[in-house]
Amino acid sequence: MNILLVDSSPIYREILQQYLSHFPGVQVLLARSRQEATALIAATKFDFFVVAGQLPDSDGVSFSRELRQQGHARVEPVVLLTATPSAELATAATQAGVTELFRKQDIDELLRFMRHYVELMQPMRCRILYIEDARDQRLVLEELLRSWGATVDAFAMADEAWQSFAENDYDLVLCDVVLGGRMTGPRLINRIRRLPLPKGGVPILAVTAFDNPGRRIELFQLGVDDYVQKPILDEELRARIHNLLVRKRAVERSEMLLSATALGVAIVDREGGVETLDDNARAMFGVEACDCVQQAPTLGLLAEKLTDCAPSVLAMLLQGQSVQRQRCQGRRKSGETFPIELTGLEIESGANGQRFALLVRDISEEQQLATHLLRAKDAAERAERMKGEFLANMSHEIRTPLNAILGIAHLLKYDALSDEQKTSVDHIEAAGQHLLALISDILDLSKIEAGRMELESVPLSIEETVLEVVSMVEPQLAAKGVELKVEASDVPAIVYGDPLRLRQALLNYASNAVKFTELGSVTLRTRVLEDAGDTVLLRFEVEDTGIGIPPEALDTIFSAFRQADNSTTRRYGGTGLGLAITQELAEAMGGEVGVSSRQGIGSVFWLTARLKCGTERRAVGRPVIGELPPEETLRERFRGVKVLLVEDEVVNRMVAGNIIGRLGFAVDVAENGEVALEMVRENDYDVVLMDMLMPNMDGVEATRCIRQMEGRAGLPIIALTANAFAEEKRRCLDAGMNGFVSKPFHPQTLYSTMLQCLERASIVKGAAQS
Ligand code: ADP
Repeated sequence: MNILLVDSSPIYREILQQYLSHFPGVQVLLARSRQEATALIAATKFDFFVVAGQLPDSDGVSFSRELRQQGHARVEPVVLLTATPSAELATAATQAGVTELFRKQDIDELLRFMRHYVELMQPMRCRILYIEDARDQRLVLEELLRSWGATVDAFAMADEAWQSFAENDYDLVLCDVVLGGRMTGPRLINRIRRLPLPKGGVPILAVTAFDNPGRRIELFQLGVDDYVQKPILDEELRARIHNLLVRKRAVERSEMLLSATALGVAIVDREGGVETLDDNARAMFGVEACDCVQQAPTLGLLAEKLTDCAPSVLAMLLQGQSVQRQRCQGRRKSGETFPIELTGLEIESGANGQRFALLVRDISEEQQLATHLLRAKDAAERAERMKGEFLANMSHEIRTPLNAILGIAHLLKYDALSDEQKTSVDHIEAAGQHLLALISDILDLSKIEAGRMELESVPLSIEETVLEVVSMVEPQLAAKGVELKVEASDVPAIVYGDPLRLRQALLNYASNAVKFTELGSVTLRTRVLEDAGDTVLLRFEVEDTGIGIPPEALDTIFSAFRQADNSTTRRYGGTGLGLAITQELAEAMGGEVGVSSRQGIGSVFWLTARLKCGTERRAVGRPVIGELPPEETLRERFRGVKVLLVEDEVVNRMVAGNIIGRLGFAVDVAENGEVALEMVRENDYDVVLMDMLMPNMDGVEATRCIRQMEGRAGLPIIALTANAFAEEKRRCLDAGMNGFVSKPFHPQTLYSTMLQCLERASIVKGAAQS
């Protein structure tokens, strides 16, 4: 295709050439003047002219007129470019035969306009069925169609053409209307149009010699898409074929898109008779292609069986309602049913010719998958529940004997022992504590993983929490000769948080620092990063001058069961759980964790926590500085207290009995809840220590019963339980208990809980008496 641009400047040529470069065989030639243009036209045939309004030796309108008059541009478009459009110019241009006028700056519009022509001139990639009984005419047109790039099957008679049509796929039928032979042109056209889609929808271009409007109307009534009149003008034929093909391609594109979606499309009539099924729908319903083409009438029968809900869907569509993703059962030709999702819409209106498209989606796999997923989810939840129960049981089972071991070791220390025996008892206690820490870590991690870690929000003192950590690591550091430093700046006195968990997070860092530092110092640092008034973001750091961590291990050091290198386990012990737990805890406190470290120099582990600011002057459960230790206060202020210890396990009974006995208190024991009830009814105890899991009647039930007894509403009851979960604590408090101590317990913990409960009870009692 040749395009002539007549313009004194070459800019437009470059733009046009670039834009058209992906169309093969398009050439843009430039003439800077009328004279140059004339010379080019003499040598080359052009298919498109672009003329500037002003030329050095003429004006664009006159030159366009010349092109038309001299036959250089008979049917070829001539467009005029002007910088100053006006109504007069537009009129003059139209009179001169200009196809369209463009402002020079509207280059995009011009390009869009040209695109259609350029596409029209591209080789036609299509297959045409051509029927013409006049041999000479047929040969000429066949040749012409081929020269445009089409594949042509040409026939003299409609019978032969019909046969070929059935056997091949055509893009277009070009058909003479008046034909010799048995079958006429109108009969052939009619036969094609009666076929179901897609064959029945092939574009038909009729060729006719008659110039009678009535006959032309008949042709359209038969179903032709367009016609050309003999004698045929080449350019007209080409343009008409092009238009029909463009439309067919657009339809094909949408069909391809539909088939790519795996949606099946069924076209049905008002009665629910299926007119066509596309490939997807055929595959879905197990219908052969030939069922649709040659046995079109049987499709009506098949239709009723396509889906169980077809009648109701059809009724909705007939009432003008939309059908969106309705789920129902489809039925294959074999009779087998399968789940489908139907969307229906009207595609042709009119009382008789009303047609609907049913978009069908086979959802069997989806449903199967959903069922599998549901089962898998159930199984996972069951497994999770079992894991939780197992852990709780295991924890209980391990803690109970551990309580006995640690308790007895503790009691043994009060006996007269040889130095050697003392060392052995210390070892038993240390090993027991180690085992206890391990179990707690594993439990914590599993709780966190199951999303069951709940943090408390009670008034706590940051300073005291840090000092507790300090007091726990101080002896070991002192033994190693490592200096301990504590730095804190302007930290609020009281905040809301979970003191136990905060201490645990810090202690994990601090004990690692102790473990991995042999020389130098360990520093605990606390500072405020952000103060938002009602909340503060705190940063805690533990810096050491220990062995440090290799750079490649830094990224994964916070993952569970990770250690910086495998030799760590052998040299230092540990499970690799501490940092993972600290990270989870920090995140649960609205903060983050991090580390910077250099091998051989030391490490800084940090965590942040966003905590609510408190107004209380004292943290819960903390003795006021200067107060006596709880053990002594108990002895002094609560002399002669009567304690009931409810515990089924003999050794634990002995341990607890002994620890309380040391306070000088009278201790009665009950081996289960039932016995305890009896004893509480008959005696006036000052405090009850209640185990939770016991035969006959457990601690929760016994507490509930006690609370219903007359005069026992204020009796302090403290739970002693081997289950350390927060739910357990809540269960105890809900049942009416006043305190909670988890086993194995440190005597000090039991003493201070007893002290709190007794103090509270005596305040209540005092208030009631006065
Ligand atoms: P554990 O100490 O029980 O192995 P952690 O999760 O607390 O588990 O620590 C994981 C690993 O991180 C340790 O084994 C050690 O390799 C490394 N690590 C932690 N803290 C330090 C530290 N202060 N100095 C050097 N290495 C450390």
